[in-house]
Amino acid sequence: MEQNANKIYDVAIIGGGPAGLAAGLYAARAGRSAILIEELTAGGQITKTHNVENYPGFEEGIDGFSLAAKMERQATRFGLEMKYASVRELALTENVKRIGCGKKEFFARAVILATGAEPRLLGIPGEVEQMGTGVSYCATCDGAFFRGMPVAVIGGGDTAVSDALYLSRFAERVYVVHRRDTLRAAQVLQDAARQTENIEFILDCVPEEILGGDAVEGLRIKNKKTEEAHVLAVKGVFVAVGTMPRSALVRELLCCDENGYIKTDAQMGTSLPGVYAAGDVRVTPLRQVITAAADGAVAATSAVEYLMQKGE
Ligand code: NAP
Repeated sequence: MEQNANKIYDVAIIGGGPAGLAAGLYAARAGRSAILIEELTAGGQITKTHNVENYPGFEEGIDGFSLAAKMERQATRFGLEMKYASVRELALTENVKRIGCGKKEFFARAVILATGAEPRLLGIPGEVEQMGTGVSYCATCDGAFFRGMPVAVIGGGDTAVSDALYLSRFAERVYVVHRRDTLRAAQVLQDAARQTENIEFILDCVPEEILGGDAVEGLRIKNKKTEEAHVLAVKGVFVAVGTMPRSALVRELLCCDENGYIKTDAQMGTSLPGVYAAGDVRVTPLRQVITAAADGAVAATSAVEYLMQKGE
């Protein structure tokens, strides 16, 4: 087994979204050896966002991919090591913690879990069958395939409404299907969507089935108040009904809430010493880039404090 020369890092960060990258920046700037292990590309969920307009300092907004790249360059400039590997196993109870990534393993005295969240599925017939052939969880990634076609977005939160705005640039018509009569999305997004001619809100309706064979041919919805069913003749269905925590690896090891989000204290400490959680994976009232980054800063500062208290 490759053991990266048995190096023991001060801090290992798992997950390279805004929480993990901010943690890496703070740990490295504190003069600590820090490694960030990321599965795919740095940025996490913001790489799926075409315009982040509520992160301070970017007055015109910035696309998520560019923001992530800036965060990564900023953290590595101070010495954060980036490793691209999939974490399969964690041993967190000992003084030195082990992070198993198949043939590679890494060791650290403190660990920050910043694994984020992933899209929640609708769980209706046709969804899994047509993933990638018309059912999508990323408007920024797949929107351009639906140029000139009618599409539906499911959900009433910030993701659904900002996805609808993005899709309105390509699609012939965008139906936003939401299960209640009020939206959860920020007012500024709602106002922009309502002023967009090819966006139509379909409220009080739940999706029941995604129709089609090799490609999506429609979405069957039901009005919750009238019980009437209706088919929207759409070619694409963008699911934006929230997220689930990526905490499967630690659910048996750490205290989590009933949905699997990791419980932390104000210092981002978890139920195990030397183990911290930051960003969307933890129980938190707000899941935004700014709160994730702030969590990462607090977690790294707490990890450094923990190491100092132990004389390490
Ligand atoms: P969210 O705020 O949890 O909203 C999920 C939406 O999906 C809600 O409207 C919910 O309906 C609906 N929903 C949930 N399960 C459903 C189901 N089974 N069938 C139909 N509808 C269902 O999720 P999000 O929009 O992905 O946002 C997640 C976090 O990221 C939030 O904190 C958000 O502010 C943040 N975010 C921010 C931005 C930004 O530009 N600032 C952009 C994207 C995301 P109910 O309303 O009835 O519960």
